[in-house]
Amino acid sequence: MMSAVVETYPWGDSRRFNSYSAYFRRLFGSRVQKVTIDAGFTCPNRDGSISSGGCTFCNNDAFSPSYSHKGYPIARQIEEGILFHRNRYRKAQKYLAYFQSYSNTYKPLAELREIYGQAITHPDVAGIVVGTRPDCVDEAKLDYFAGLAAQGYYVILEYGIESVYDETLRRVNRGHDFAAAVRAVEMTKARGIHCGAHFILGLPDETDEMLVAQAGAINALPLDTVKFHQLQIFKDTLMARDYAAHPDAYRFRTLPEYIDLFIDLLERLRPDLVIERFAGEAPPRYHLNPSPWGSVRNERLLQLLEKRLEERGTWQGKLFLTDRT
Ligand code: SF4
Repeated sequence: MMSAVVETYPWGDSRRFNSYSAYFRRLFGSRVQKVTIDAGFTCPNRDGSISSGGCTFCNNDAFSPSYSHKGYPIARQIEEGILFHRNRYRKAQKYLAYFQSYSNTYKPLAELREIYGQAITHPDVAGIVVGTRPDCVDEAKLDYFAGLAAQGYYVILEYGIESVYDETLRRVNRGHDFAAAVRAVEMTKARGIHCGAHFILGLPDETDEMLVAQAGAINALPLDTVKFHQLQIFKDTLMARDYAAHPDAYRFRTLPEYIDLFIDLLERLRPDLVIERFAGEAPPRYHLNPSPWGSVRNERLLQLLEKRLEERGTWQGKLFLTDRT
């Protein structure tokens, strides 16, 4: 009997996109778990330096895990996070300290040294993931992170870019333009630091065509990882008010519509870009309206994505590769 031929894609496995879990297996040879740390940062788009309103979609609490405790010493937060994950997922062998909330480079360098020094010296931590804004890094801060990477720690700077369109960035009061993101990513990669980016798919007035056409600008950035979220409107945000005033600017895609839209984008993305996430659900209590998707867990979202990729006979970079031949 003939056995089915399992296709291997450019990233070296049979999944139809370059997955985050395989990326870490390639890097570390084992499963890696991120432990979220809240080191008490704030953000220039909230503290009045740029604005005090923040990005219209911003509600950091919606994405903070229940075990993260601002104000606790970093070592304690790491230990509690590891305990939480060990009880849930026993397979992780390495942990990364994930600085997620607000802008985690928005303090003087001396304080960054203190905060990240505490995380990196924890015996169970293999590296740090630093979420921040593109306008909150400078040469000295990036040199510090490059120094940690040169010592063998895994260091990644993850920038909230959200959209490649300046008119959208203005519309959501982002407080920086796309050129700022390009500068930050290029300065980061020039120092050999891993670099990731976050995008929201479906910000107001963005059409499907605009969202798919972003692929060219994303591919041109020297990024290692990308993370996408569908638009969700949270209670008590500026976006909740904007939505009430301009409902026609917002479009909520059903889950099958969103998956097809994401695949249209994925087909055009570089095969070497690692897809950290393509969608995600915040807890229902934060949502302005009930989620049109219901409550769908991440593993289920990935299954649905893979099933649809198979049905469409496509994969990450299929059109990127075609366009280059
Ligand atoms: S940059 Fe981040 S923390 Fe600051 S307002 Fe925007 S989403 Fe919120």
